Amino acid sequence: RAKQAGRNRCCRFDDEHDSHARARQQMQAEMEQALAERRLLLYFQPKIDMRSGALIGAEALLRWQHADGRLLTPPHFLPQIEATPLDLQLGNWVLAQAVAQLRDWQRRGHGLSLSVNISPHQLQDPGFIPVLERLLAEGEAIAAGRLELEILETAAIKNIKQVTDIIHHCHRLGLRIALDDFGTGYSSLTYLKRLPADVLKIDKSFVIDMLDNPEDKAIVQGIIGLARAFQREVVAEGVESAGHRAMLLGLDCHLGQGFGIARPMPAAEFERWQQQYRPRPCRPEPIRCQPP
Ligand code: C2E
Ligand code: MG
Ligand code: MG
Ligand code: MG
Repeated sequence: RAKQAGRNRCCRFDDEHDSHARARQQMQAEMEQALAERRLLLYFQPKIDMRSGALIGAEALLRWQHADGRLLTPPHFLPQIEATPLDLQLGNWVLAQAVAQLRDWQRRGHGLSLSVNISPHQLQDPGFIPVLERLLAEGEAIAAGRLELEILETAAIKNIKQVTDIIHHCHRLGLRIALDDFGTGYSSLTYLKRLPADVLKIDKSFVIDMLDNPEDKAIVQGIIGLARAFQREVVAEGVESAGHRAMLLGLDCHLGQGFGIARPMPAAEFERWQQQYRPRPCRPEPIRCQPP
């Protein structure tokens, strides 16, 4: 009887497991179709120098214009394809789109940089560097430093030797590397010393909460100090208000992106935004600045 009960439990578990697997498969099929129908697209969020307000570049962020009318953001669909072949296919597509966009900006004389998110699975793919090399070789040269790859701090420290090699390779190709969501991976000073990344991107959770949470402010301050000591660039994400901007400037962090500056936009809208954008200088705290 006990055996039978055990078997039943096992069946229920398997059923659940199967239905999970089916949901994943269905999502993957839908995404493959969306890719073919061009319903996956890149949005672009401006990154500025918060002192002068000057536009420096953008981050490419994936969106899915779903057939049911919703615009889906990556947390709603990327986990379903994590570590599948589609993850790599999509990653390569994102890279190709980003490189094409950068070439277009370059041709039209916009001196912008573009950051692209790389999935942990992409980083482990032996085909990653060859794909990058081919993309860069197949067309006009991208000016050095204009293409930046964002890798998650957590993914970088899991595989430090391999990631270090990739970073060196990317440097030879003229690319820059940012550690994304920095501060969430608990990476120690020793890890940072070994990782030759160019940029630390402070995770938005700390930035958003730093105005009323002294501990978050201390973390932000710590990361900025770390970046300075290791001679890395530092960028804040999650700049939602003039208060964030002023506090970050007071802490000596100059580069930022966030809803308080501009939301992610499709390429055409980014173009219009850029044309009408008037940089406004901002003073560091304690002197309050005007909302952007
Ligand atoms: P991320 O790379 O850290 O990107 C920043 C996320 O914060 C974006 O969410 C952006 O829309 C959002 N954000 C920007 N400013 C603010 C702000 O002021 N306040 C708040 N609350 N949020 C802000 P999104 O677009 O939903 O992307 C989420 C994550 O998905 C990204 O985090 C990145 O890890 C991943 N992702 C996005 N696009 C790609 C991609 O093409 N490939 C891969 N592998 N991952 C991607
Ligand atoms: Mg990012
Ligand atoms: Mg981030
Ligand atoms: Mg994030």
